[in-house]
Parts: sequence; structure tokens; C-alpha cells
Amino acid sequence: MLVTKPASQNLETTSDELPFPDADLMQIVDLLSAEERQRYLSTREFLQRRIRPESIDYWNREAFPFELLPELASYGLGELQTDGSSQLFKGLMYFEVARADVSLSALVGIHNELIVGMIDELGSEEQKQRWLPGLKVFRELGAFALTEPNHGSDVAGGLETTAELIDGEWIINGAKRWIGSGTVADFALVWARDLADNEIKGFIVETDRPGYSASKIVNKIGLRIMQNADIVLDGVRVPEANLLPGAKNFVAANELLRDSRAWVGWQGAGIQFATFDVARDYVVRRHQFGKPLAKFQLVQLGLSEIIGNASCSLALMVQFARLQDQREAQMAQAAMVKATTTRLARASVAQGRALLGGNGIVTDYEMAKIFGDAEILYTYEGSYEINSLIVGRAVTGMSAFV
Ligand SMILES: Cc1cc2nc3c(=O)[nH]c(=O)nc-3n(C[C@H](O)[C@H](O)[C@H](O)COP(=O)(O)OP(=O)(O)OC[C@H]3O[C@@H](n4cnc5c(N)ncnc54)[C@H](O)[C@@H]3O)c2cc1C
Repeated sequence: MLVTKPASQNLETTSDELPFPDADLMQIVDLLSAEERQRYLSTREFLQRRIRPESIDYWNREAFPFELLPELASYGLGELQTDGSSQLFKGLMYFEVARADVSLSALVGIHNELIVGMIDELGSEEQKQRWLPGLKVFRELGAFALTEPNHGSDVAGGLETTAELIDGEWIINGAKRWIGSGTVADFALVWARDLADNEIKGFIVETDRPGYSASKIVNKIGLRIMQNADIVLDGVRVPEANLLPGAKNFVAANELLRDSRAWVGWQGAGIQFATFDVARDYVVRRHQFGKPLAKFQLVQLGLSEIIGNASCSLALMVQFARLQDQREAQMAQAAMVKATTTRLARASVAQGRALLGGNGIVTDYEMAKIFGDAEILYTYEGSYEINSLIVGRAVTGMSAFV
């Protein structure tokens, strides 16, 4: 028997009819306080009901869902970084957004960790007052502009974009690549090397300044809703006050960069739960050889591996959140959770894709979208290999980068 309806058209009812409808076999959500649990459950319901089915069409069209931003804001997703929530709650929010759509979880994560977080912790009072109110409700957006056409993994040492302070204005020259929201943001947080002292510093560059241009990178195999851009900065002038006072060298941003690395770990866990949700719904409905696919031992093995990988990933993130709350988190731990959850995610989405057979390669059944998105998680915020080298250095005391 055929599954006649694409999964995307009957999402609201399916999982609820199955055992462990939320797939939380390890009862992770019970770790939240009663108040945070309530907020978590209502946000998850919104994400599953509204965002998950809607996102497939935006993903297919590589379109940005401006119209969904006020709804995301109404659930507080624009101010997770500053609302005083526990790290576990914030992480579980990232996890649930990724479970609904990975691109939007990239938007929410970069926004909180790298835009709101950087301005809140490294910005001047004037910068905070100017930008934070609009950012917190997604009325305004920022882009985090670090990677360059010639420097990805080695950007910290090789960064070529320059800034020069002349008569009270910074003049910025260079190019950036892959910058999320680069074509839709109100400003970019641009990392550039100060010609005076050779330090890498962070600058707020409004996107309507002369000399700033951004072109959308198209035909991506994943994260298609996120508007990644090639950016050119051709003699862009910004006031002296646009330098983030707390970001006068790259080390100053280290703690925030560590946490944003770990944020991808929540995405790595979320995408695996999405994989499980879609695969399980499919195999209990699709019949071959006169019975549901779910009755076959090899199919159950696949499902068991996915939920096992997913649960390991989530448990790892829970412990990382504890370390964050205790202010003990380190870069090597962030690198390990990022590398491990995304490695497992790649294995899980391959398994999930196979369980859907041919229907696993069309986005109508959602799995193909999830499959493509996993590739981005594996590579951004430090590729799998670079994060593994950070872990390797930590456990051997020897650097193997070059
Ligand atoms: C969809 C998407 C969104 C992104 N969003 C942003 C964003 O918003 N802002 C931003 O600043 N950046 C962003 N990035 C950039 C991302 O962080 C980089 O792609 C990533 O750091 C890898 O850099 P690269 O692509 O230049 O690859 P490269 O550095 O060229 O690496 C290519 C390959 O070589 C390997 N490699 C490199 N050096 C070593 C080594 N020493 N040892 C072993 N292997 C090595 C890498 O692991 C990788 O497999 C995004 C990227 C993507 C794809």
C-alpha cells in the first residue's frame, strides 16, 4: 500500500497517535522548571503546527519568511539570549526550532548567540539602546560577517578585511562569504583587521551605507531559507562609535564564539529528532509485503539507531548546558559536542532517508529537506575536521592544525 499523502500534509495528527509521541525517551524535558516547561510546550506546539509545515515551501523556493518573524517573536525567540532563561531552556528552544526547520533555527541561533549576544556583552550603551529593542522582536536583523572568500577554517589568522580610522571614521575594505541574512539584515557585524595595531575588531556596518553590497548565494543543498550572501565592502565609512568597544581583539569574542559553536550541537540534536519524527510516521503507515514497514526487523533497527543517536546528542547538550550554567564550559567541550552531534546527525539522516525509500528524495515528504540541511551543520561554525582538531589538541596537548 502506498502512503498517499506527503508527510508535510498530515503532520498535525500523526505522532500523537504513537507511543512516546514527543520521542523524549530519556525524559529530558522533565529537567526544566515547571514554568519553563510550560513555555517550552507551548512553543513546541506552535513550531510543529505552524512553522514545520510552512517551512517546506519556503525551503523549496529559497525564500525568506519575513511574515513569520512576528510570530517567532511572539514566542520570545528573538530575546532568548537576554531574557534570563536557563541555558537548558535556551538550548531546548534551539533544539525545537531545528526540529521544525533547520534554517529558521540558524536564524534564531545566530541572532541570539552572535548578534544580540555580541551587542549585549561587547557593545556600548549607545549601541545597545539603538539596536537591542528592534532585534529582540525581530523588527531588525543583523548578520554575522566573519568568513571570507579566501579564509574559512583559517580565518582567525588569515582575515584580510581591513579597517582604518581616519578623521573619526572607520574605512572598511574587503569581502565576506556565506554571511547569513546578508541580503536582508539591517546591519552586518563585520570583523576586520585594524591597520593600526593588526588586531581583529568587530564593527557595526549598516547595510545601506555606500560601498556595502550583498548578493544572495543560490542553489544551496541545505539551509535554503537562510539568505546567505557574498558581501563586498568597498571603502565603507562608519562612525568611530560603530566599533564594538568590547571587541577590540578576537580573543574578546571567544566566549561568545564558544557558545555559538555549541549552539550547533542543539541543532544537531534537533535535526535527528525531526528525522525520527518523519521516519517513524512514515514506516507505521507505509505497507509493503502486506504489512506496515514498521513490522520489519531491519526497519525497527534503523529507527532504533536514529532515536539512540538523537538521544545521545540531546543528553550531551544537556550536560553542556549544565557546564554553561556553572560557568565552566570550555572551547574543547563546545567543539566536541558540535562535532559529535553533527557526525551522528549525518548518520541519522542517511538512515532516515533510506527508510523512506524513493519518497525520501523529494522534499514533499520532508526528509530530503532534513537530509540536505544536515550537511550545513556538519560544516559551519567550524567544520567537523576543525572541531575534531580542537578536541585532539585538548586531549593530547599537541596542535595538528598545520
Ligand atoms: C550555509 C552556510 C552558512 C554559513 N553562515 C555563516 C555566517 O553567517 N557567517 C560567517 O561568518 N560564516 C558563515 N559560514 C561559513 C562557515 O563557517 C565556513 O564555511 C566554515 O568555517 C568552513 O570554511 P570554508 O567553507 O572556507 O572551508 P575551508 O576552510 O576551505 O575547508 C575545506 C575543507 O578542508 C578542511 N580543512 C581545512 N583546514 C584543515 C586542516 N588544518 N586540517 C584538516 N582539514 C582541514 C575543512 O575541514 C573542510 O573539510 C557559513 C557556511 C555555510 C556553508
